[in-house]
Amino acid sequence: MSSTQHQFRLAARPVGLPKPSDWDYVEAPVGEPGDGELLVKVLYLSLDPAMRGWMNAGRSYIRPVEIGEVMRAVGVGRVVASRHPDFAVGDHVSGMFGVQEYCVSDGRGVTKADPALAPLPVYLGTLGGTGLTAYFGLIDIGRPEAGQTVVVSGAAGAVGSVVGQIAKILGCRVVGIAGGERKCRMLVEEFGFDAAIDYRDQDVKKALREHAPDGVDVYFDNVGGDVLDAVLTRLARGARVVICGAISQYNSVEPAKGPANYMSLLVNRASMTGMVVFDYVDRYGEAIEQLAKWLADGRLTSKEDIVDGGVSAFPDTLLKLFRGENTGKLVLKVADE
Ligand code: NAP
Repeated sequence: MSSTQHQFRLAARPVGLPKPSDWDYVEAPVGEPGDGELLVKVLYLSLDPAMRGWMNAGRSYIRPVEIGEVMRAVGVGRVVASRHPDFAVGDHVSGMFGVQEYCVSDGRGVTKADPALAPLPVYLGTLGGTGLTAYFGLIDIGRPEAGQTVVVSGAAGAVGSVVGQIAKILGCRVVGIAGGERKCRMLVEEFGFDAAIDYRDQDVKKALREHAPDGVDVYFDNVGGDVLDAVLTRLARGARVVICGAISQYNSVEPAKGPANYMSLLVNRASMTGMVVFDYVDRYGEAIEQLAKWLADGRLTSKEDIVDGGVSAFPDTLLKLFRGENTGKLVLKVADE
């Protein structure tokens, strides 16, 4: 094992899309675990749209990454040294390890990943934050009932593809909104959605009239902006709008674009609720058990988009999310298993 490693540390708060110069790529010593700590060799990193928000100053659901700090990231890795009673050398683990090759952790928030049950990248996707977000956002906030119409945006992405599949398992009619003909075809053919709308090429409002003729009972929003506004015009009475994310706004240098059509909530006695997956930490076990069962039964397909670039590829790989270049969960491979 080398005594040095590479890390990305935040160098500047981005304006618009993050640039490579917003991070410093540095060589640093591999730490030594102290009493109650473990050393993890990072194998895969989760790339998340939320990373863009973590780079901003100001109040949010989590503190910002400070200038000079290792960029925050969830990862999966292997324990290579341990002075922690719950973790042994050779264990595979998932946790907030940061954009770096090795991480010394005190074990808080670290969970074990069993590569015999699922490939390690799945622990960053369907059996990780992605699956948990889809599960609680849809079931707890969206409260879909069999026979109802569920619409999800960012539908070919990590969270969206799981949301749509869970809604199908629950007996709903599912319409996905995604960018491009290839992604839309995949939603129907691979993920079993009932219909898909290409928001880059189609009029979303008009297409919803065709695909959700009785209105939208649950809208799971990952993108915000114009797509949110269009879906608001098609709500059914009593609809639930789940605000999971607003990726169309994350790099905007203008103030976030709010929904002009919000009066539709009043007319339709509908609700719009924000959700943060961390609020469900006490119930993660329940969701993981169910998601793993659906995966094992073949009712849920987990799709990972793995970039084999090493840690140095982080800045460019992150941008794939904002260019719509990923399908399923975007993962950066840092080292061989
Ligand atoms: P993802 O959907 O796998 O990747 C992002 C996708 O967003 C891209 O592939 C792209 O797909 C789409 N996109 C990019 N720019 C867009 C734009 N301007 N307008 C519309 N769509 C755009 O990412 P994810 O990890 O699953 O995250 C999805 C959303 O969930 C994000 O908003 C994220 O912040 C949110 N999230 C929230 C929580 C929570 O606790 N609330 C937890 C996890 C994730 P197209 O090609 O289809 O445009």
